[in-house]
Amino acid sequence: MTITIRNLSKTFGDGDSATTVLDDVSFSVESGEIFAVVGPSGAGKSTLARCINLLERPTSGEVIVNGDSLTQLTSTELRQARRRIGTVFQSSSLLSRRTAAANVALPLEYLGATKAATKTRVGELLERVGLGDKAQKYPHQLSGGQRQRVGIARALALKPSVLLSDEATSGLDRVATESYLTLLDTLRTDLDLAVVFITHEMETIVKVADRVGRLDHGTLREQGDIVDIALDAQSLLGAQLRAPGR
Ligand code: ADP
Ligand code: MG
Repeated sequence: MTITIRNLSKTFGDGDSATTVLDDVSFSVESGEIFAVVGPSGAGKSTLARCINLLERPTSGEVIVNGDSLTQLTSTELRQARRRIGTVFQSSSLLSRRTAAANVALPLEYLGATKAATKTRVGELLERVGLGDKAQKYPHQLSGGQRQRVGIARALALKPSVLLSDEATSGLDRVATESYLTLLDTLRTDLDLAVVFITHEMETIVKVADRVGRLDHGTLREQGDIVDIALDAQSLLGAQLRAPGR
């Protein structure tokens, strides 16, 4: 198991104003595997993402990466451990005043890598996401799909074992979405990554995921093989099409 989420819960506020956004969520993802979490807006997907990469402290439960429980670490240890999880957010969150290369360099700069090492690594990463020729472009000079691929390169800068993608294809057109998914598919094999792919778009996950969990009001309801879930969705669609009045 590369990443295990065990009995994770998150409650915001306390007393009468307490809201439980995640309720006892558990799942595991192996290296080389893509696990998708699908659910409607407000289901708790982004909260789950922020608890997995420990931007948010879960109220209870554990995040275990390569056998180490990240939730039990002190803040200093956590800063180190967080490197094991790379995150791509919706509409990338690139810094607009930095070139693609300078954005990818950010995590390496924080780490104190030398200029020469950073330059080499950034070059490799941009090549890997198919943007070797776009290093000196600013985010506004790139398409939405290209910006998300820069986001992947940045997420991979510190060689994580887990790649977390939260609505990274939302807002992209079909071609850009397919290109993002194809890239994920290649990377998980080449880099042996465990991928957690979060989206509200069912049709997107069918193309890429090995297994799927459906998040509904903070509860991960079903986890299953993508084929089964796709068939269920298809038969549901079929039933709707056959319904009287259509
Ligand atoms: P999704 O990404 O699936 O749309 P979110 O995780 O963003 O869902 O939000 C789930 C619920 O948690 C929403 O009702 C939202 O208002 C609530 N929520 C998220 N962050 C906070 C917070 N910091 N404080 C209080 N409530 C929050
Ligand atoms: Mg969200």
